[in-house]
Amino acid sequence: MENSEIIKVRDEYEKQIFDLKQLFEISKSLNSTLDYGILIESILYTIMGQMKVLKAALYTKKGLDSTTFNLHRNFKGFELEHDHDYSIPEDSPAMRLFARETRCWTLAEIRARFGNLGGLEVLESMEPCLLVPLKAKGVVNGLILLGEQIIDEEFSSYEKDYLLNIAILASIAISNAFLFEMTTTDMMTKLRMKHYFYTVLLDRMEESAFTEKPLSVIMCDIDHFKIFNDTYGHSCGDEVLKSVAKLIQTQTRSVDVAARYGGEEFCMLLPDTNAAAAEIIAERIRKGIEGMAIEYEGQRMSVTLSLGVAQYDPERDLTGKSVIDRADKAMYLSKQSGRNKVMVAR
Ligand code: GH3
Ligand code: MG
Ligand code: MG
Repeated sequence: MENSEIIKVRDEYEKQIFDLKQLFEISKSLNSTLDYGILIESILYTIMGQMKVLKAALYTKKGLDSTTFNLHRNFKGFELEHDHDYSIPEDSPAMRLFARETRCWTLAEIRARFGNLGGLEVLESMEPCLLVPLKAKGVVNGLILLGEQIIDEEFSSYEKDYLLNIAILASIAISNAFLFEMTTTDMMTKLRMKHYFYTVLLDRMEESAFTEKPLSVIMCDIDHFKIFNDTYGHSCGDEVLKSVAKLIQTQTRSVDVAARYGGEEFCMLLPDTNAAAAEIIAERIRKGIEGMAIEYEGQRMSVTLSLGVAQYDPERDLTGKSVIDRADKAMYLSKQSGRNKVMVAR
């Protein structure tokens, strides 16, 4: 072999070794989180960096019973119309094709197969240059859309193969995060469950003790809910639980954790929030619930909530249970002093 050829072969091997190392790093990074939001961001930024594109978006399913793929709101670079529905039915011909054939696609290639976009018509206005299905265990659980590369060239077959490898890693990570979310979320209220709340509480307590940033917990319990159930029936009670959960969710930030602690008890974890700020949030929730008219089978009804607030105190709260107990006691003081109240643990 001539010298120049040897150098060329060596360069190719070096590139492949570099790319394999990159894939390993990507795998480590994507497997380091089970948080759906963080994961989606991580996948998009990884692919944008690796492929040198300025536009990337990701479709995933919202829940177990979902029959459509929805565009994740963290898309990058694409200009989308605000009120437009960009969802794709899971049984569209193109999605079924992606399940059968593992490869990257352009819109032109899909059009060549079907004579149309096979159910992906909503993508036309976005003009993606490449579609990369996310497939793990034979199932498509997502779809990545990419814009053009910064250097204005078509994706090479090497790049497409590389993208498919990233897509497998991303798909497995999404599948794990999805299962984690399913097993830590209460299906009725769509709030997190107690054990998840407790795990995050311990993490945040450690963080708070280290950073000295405040951390607060709110516990709440619906007032006289047994009577409500006895009067209006259990199904009506379930609707109330869903409405209360929804209001709690809308009154908390994405960094907070809102959970269903038990039957008709809810709790919130508020990082970077002291007792005074948590009291304001608790009061806002109390007022919101009090003013909420719940419609069920033509009837309008309402409930009230008793709340207790406690700020984590590293000196006193040596366990997660300790701060929860203090918030719980404050909540019972609210009950004792007439319900529909907020009390703060001192
Ligand atoms: P208090 O103001 O003291 O909290 O009175 P309460 O009746 O709300 O308190 P208690 O804890 O005695 O009763 C809780 C009730 O919540 C019992 C049960 O009927 C109801 N409950 C618990 N889980 C569910 C649920 O998933 N669905 C419905 N509909 N009701 C539930
Ligand atoms: Mg209760
Ligand atoms: Mg109650």
